[in-house]
Amino acid sequence: MNDVSLTLPPFQAGSVWLVGAGPGDPGLLTLLASHALQFADVVIYDALVDRRILKLVNPKAALEAAGKRGGRPSAKQPDISKSLIARAREGKRVLRLKGGDPFVFGRGGEEALALAQAGIPFRLVPGVTAAIGGLAYAGVPATHRGTNSAVTFLTGHADDGGLPDDVDWEGLVKGSPLLIVYMPIGNLERLSQRLIEAGRPADEPALLISKATTPDQNVVATTLAQCVTDAAKSGIVPPALFVVGPGVALHEQLDWYRAWLAGNEKGGST
Ligand code: SAH
Repeated sequence: MNDVSLTLPPFQAGSVWLVGAGPGDPGLLTLLASHALQFADVVIYDALVDRRILKLVNPKAALEAAGKRGGRPSAKQPDISKSLIARAREGKRVLRLKGGDPFVFGRGGEEALALAQAGIPFRLVPGVTAAIGGLAYAGVPATHRGTNSAVTFLTGHADDGGLPDDVDWEGLVKGSPLLIVYMPIGNLERLSQRLIEAGRPADEPALLISKATTPDQNVVATTLAQCVTDAAKSGIVPPALFVVGPGVALHEQLDWYRAWLAGNEKGGST
């Protein structure tokens, strides 16, 4: 391979890079993410970041779990932002490593705003979001001619623990053939009922995809009406996605990763 590092921007001391680590498979890291892992002085990572990716951090860098203080978890967003600002002011190259993409249900916007308000230089490095990685590794095209020309990402878990109430469920159900729900597990029953009430057929095909793009990926084919029973039966655990729509059926023909894993029992990256 050609040496591409010359074309990558320097990681300036005193700056923060908000970097997406992708959904799991280290092979899905961007070149910018990999460059940042080499040059960072401090890496502050979220619980969702795959352990194999943490092994790629420069051994000289300090590696810290976000929101942990004295071993106790306290995932307070303002604390994390304050810590990013403080480290940058010490002149460190601060890498904030987040699962998937920092701007997709990752609170990257809040951290970027805090940095902007504090006058700290920052860079955003997008990552493969769980929906895009998960669909690809489950063999479901996000859009497919003749099946769906629109796709929606939404969350199944609002701040108060319920379904989000700023979603126009009827509009969504009518307007978007393919729905990909992040954080669906805690509210799966309410979520599937709400989609049926809003007009989706109870027998509409759906998939639960857990631990997408990792050797433990588990894909369960189900329907809106059956998903709660099937999730319990198959022991689906977070992190997981719930995908609803006619395009889901393509999984049967395009399930390449399961076949690949079966042939490579140890898994790993591509
Ligand atoms: N910023 C992340 C999302 C963080 S919210 C991104 O862009 O992907 C956390 C949710 O993401 C989880 O509850 C789950 O719904 C989803 N998720 C993250 N990693 C996943 C994975 N490997 N497999 C399935 N879902 C995943």
